[in-house]
Amino acid sequence: MKAEMIAVGTEILLGDIVNTNAQMISLGLDELGIDLFYQTVVGDNPERLREVLDIARRRSDLIITTGGLGPTLDDLTRETIAEAFGKTLVLHKPSLRRITAFFDQIGKDMTQNNVKQAMLPAGCKVLDNDWGTAPGCVFTADGVHVMMLPGPPKECTPMFRTAGMAYLSQLAGGVIVSRRIRIFGMGESAMEDRLHTLMATSTNPTLAPYAKDGECMVRVTAKAHSVQEAQQLLEPAVQQVCDKLGDAVYGVDVDSMEHAVAKLLTEKGLTLSVAESCTGGLLSKRITDVPGASLFYKGGACTYCNEIKQKILGVKQETLEQFTAVSSQTAREMALGIAAVYGTDLGIGITGYAGPDDGEDGTPAGTIYIGISYQGKAQVRRILSPRGRDRARWDAANHALDMILRVAQGRGLV
Ligand code: ATP
Ligand code: MG
Repeated sequence: MKAEMIAVGTEILLGDIVNTNAQMISLGLDELGIDLFYQTVVGDNPERLREVLDIARRRSDLIITTGGLGPTLDDLTRETIAEAFGKTLVLHKPSLRRITAFFDQIGKDMTQNNVKQAMLPAGCKVLDNDWGTAPGCVFTADGVHVMMLPGPPKECTPMFRTAGMAYLSQLAGGVIVSRRIRIFGMGESAMEDRLHTLMATSTNPTLAPYAKDGECMVRVTAKAHSVQEAQQLLEPAVQQVCDKLGDAVYGVDVDSMEHAVAKLLTEKGLTLSVAESCTGGLLSKRITDVPGASLFYKGGACTYCNEIKQKILGVKQETLEQFTAVSSQTAREMALGIAAVYGTDLGIGITGYAGPDDGEDGTPAGTIYIGISYQGKAQVRRILSPRGRDRARWDAANHALDMILRVAQGRGLV
């Protein structure tokens, strides 16, 4: 099936808003294994929308539109599509009831133009809108499937991810199930190198590698008649990938490194505290993004200047004088210090030059030391991340999370 997406909205053409619906839909179609070949943006103009639709119907089997389903005059997607595909618009009473109930719920009067939102192409399947007023819909005409979704991402995303994708997965025939293998500490090319033969020979499941934000992922996707059958196809493939990538794999189907850390420390009953200098609290932020972090995370300290590193963490004056604040020795004392002060099993200390300036002693920007202490012993990792301040901090937090995983699993650092 060849899919095509049309975003309707002059605001997108003017650059007032970014077409985030396009990305959301692209990701969803990719998950379903449906090929998306074209994306178009067109203004709120019936002639030009008609032109785009006429092109789309000649070359695609599935057309997904977003936007222009609202109650106002410039919202003309519904009418234009119905006309282009020879469909009459009929009042869909359940949708009108939903819209009326929606206004009752928010305590506002419904105006007459809202009724137009319940006018849908005859014979379509309605996609209920639990997040706003305009229902979406999908119908078939001349062998082309047409799906209309509302513009506001808060409505478009849940509608597409639930009813929209359920409809499309049936069209695609059978089910598609994916598993995500998450990797840290191995570059994209090294990963591809190890998986090359496996990728070239796998057709079902297929393997797709990704690299993002300093880590990598392999998505393994199987198509089958049932979820169970898909899982059976996935199991050995996932195992093969994990075997080939060794201990660079930090989790399968986990959302992020911080989620993996949360799961592991909670399971093991280990507690953690972190002392951060150049990351300015980013590690604490990422850890506390995970619901339930209080089960293992006791707290953090943003110890930016030397005086505070000494006062709060007990970093020794001699250490700072002899080795400077950006040193393996300081990171080590920070990690031991925070664990002692907060009384935790594990302690992290991060210190470095995030950039853009190099250190006064010539240490290059992006040099960061990460210390970890466990049961009174500490280890330090030095990283170089010279691609700007944000990236340096992100990488430092990634490495700290990796170190926590390794130490808590008893694997030791590499
Ligand atoms: P409404 O009932 O709010 O009028 P609608 O379905 O008619 O919804 P539009 O009028 O096209 O949708 O857009 C409404 C708002 O939704 C826009 O102002 C914009 O904030 C957001 N929006 C529309 N299209 C997109 C898009 N492709 N990507 C991201 N946001 C979008
Ligand atoms: Mg609108």
